[in-house]
Amino acid sequence: MQELTHYIGGAHVKGTSGRFADVYNPATGEVQAKVPLANAAEMAHAVEVAAKAQPAWAAVNPQRRARVMMKFVDLLNRDMDKLAEALSREHGKTLPDAAGDVQRGLEVVEYCIGAPQLLKGEFTDSAGPGIDMYSMRQALGVTAGITPFNFPAMIPMWMFAPAIACGNAFILKPSERDPSVPLMLAELMEEAGLPKGILQVVNGDKEAVDAILDHPVIQSVGFVGSTPIAEYIYGRGCSNGKRVQCFGGAKNHMIIMPDADMDQAADALIGAGYGAAGERCMAISVAVPVGDETADRLVEKLVPRIEALKVGPYTAGKDVDYGPVVTAAAKANILKLVESGVDQGAELVIDGRDFNLQGYEDGFFVGPHLFDRVTKDMDIYKKEIFGPVLSVVRAQSYEEALGLAMDHEYGNGTAIFTRDGDAARDFANRVNVGMIGINVPIPVPLAYHTFGGWKKSAFGDLNQHGPDAFKFYTRTKTITSRWPSGIKDGAAFNFKPMD
Ligand code: NAD
Repeated sequence: MQELTHYIGGAHVKGTSGRFADVYNPATGEVQAKVPLANAAEMAHAVEVAAKAQPAWAAVNPQRRARVMMKFVDLLNRDMDKLAEALSREHGKTLPDAAGDVQRGLEVVEYCIGAPQLLKGEFTDSAGPGIDMYSMRQALGVTAGITPFNFPAMIPMWMFAPAIACGNAFILKPSERDPSVPLMLAELMEEAGLPKGILQVVNGDKEAVDAILDHPVIQSVGFVGSTPIAEYIYGRGCSNGKRVQCFGGAKNHMIIMPDADMDQAADALIGAGYGAAGERCMAISVAVPVGDETADRLVEKLVPRIEALKVGPYTAGKDVDYGPVVTAAAKANILKLVESGVDQGAELVIDGRDFNLQGYEDGFFVGPHLFDRVTKDMDIYKKEIFGPVLSVVRAQSYEEALGLAMDHEYGNGTAIFTRDGDAARDFANRVNVGMIGINVPIPVPLAYHTFGGWKKSAFGDLNQHGPDAFKFYTRTKTITSRWPSGIKDGAAFNFKPMD
């Protein structure tokens, strides 16, 4: 059995806490590795190493720091297939999807190559007589991030790339479900020229997270994961005086207007609802057709497309649409929610409960489900399912559809499909959700814009990546300087009376 490590001070380090978690191959259900779960002492050691290394890294000029990012991009491209394979093996997503996971992180690294430009400060010449005023952005020091299982490459890179480009040291506590890719990323950063101790990976669970939250040297904490944990980390981190940003769960609605291109809308829903087995915070889990006729047409188009979905292991390459979910517990939770939908009166149009894949009976596969006539009071509507389950909620008007998205406690992403520019504009302006798609089902902003939800999907002031990241990972210092005049004329040797 492979025993994974931490990555501390530029070396793979064995866990010493004596606690481990199982890392599964979700396609076969087998335990393929053990990951060590750090205790507070192991975390404190990593913080000490980071604090020692960070001042010298902050003193490296930003252009040289950016060159490390450039080289890292080359290495990610060189190792793309290897990274994607390692990612699929622990997460279960298909190989093209795993490569996409790496690619979207890589794009954030590319953005961070602009650090010298992004870190330029502000300057006011002659703010008063002989007075100049300027602001500079300085690194925070030791920073940390806690990431979820569903994007083990992209989300760590959302955090560590800007943190490090700004001159910080970064400690990553990745998901204990799929820790191998984060360890590989840390190795590649060092191959790219990053000094030891600037990017470290400390594996663990709540104990390691609490050690981050309570460590006085750690200046900032980034978190992405489920909402209850996001709320907990935000509260404890802030009360310990840290800068904290936490991103939580989602329930993303897609409104389908009667004038929408129904084939386009159905295709979009298949990718956005079932891609990555629905384990995406930007997955569409609720379709809201406006009017019963629209709903009937939509469901009619969806059914054959869902029936044609190919579910299988990543080893089948491009031949599968989605893979297994991450653990047996995740599978059980999804099936429990499906059961509740049936019990509470939703119409299960496509039933994936009995899905079975020959040769992979122990894998964590979940067949696709489609519910129609879902209502606001049902658990499958209120809760995040995080599985291949799409719910159709029929609205009788545009206002009712808009109200559904607005009243839901989550506010990560939403989309509208329509040919009417006025409806699209009104929707984008009024809806209280952070990321909006207009005829685009998964509106994940590119690296040079920022990513973040509203309501219970995010806690804190600044978004991930884009210009916000450079604000999150730096502190502003403003200097007012005054240089007394006269020296430039040379020294005065005669006695100068006061004037
Ligand atoms: P999770 O909340 O279970 O775990 C996230 C991280 O928190 C992991 O590193 C885990 O080790 C740690 N953790 C778990 N329990 C903890 C506890 N009790 N105390 C302290 N730390 C704890 O989330 P997950 O299952 O890994 O990821 C799926 C969730 O992440 C979904 O809710 C999804 O919507 C969300 N997500 C959100 C975004 C976003 O940008 N909003 C992006 C991706 C995923």
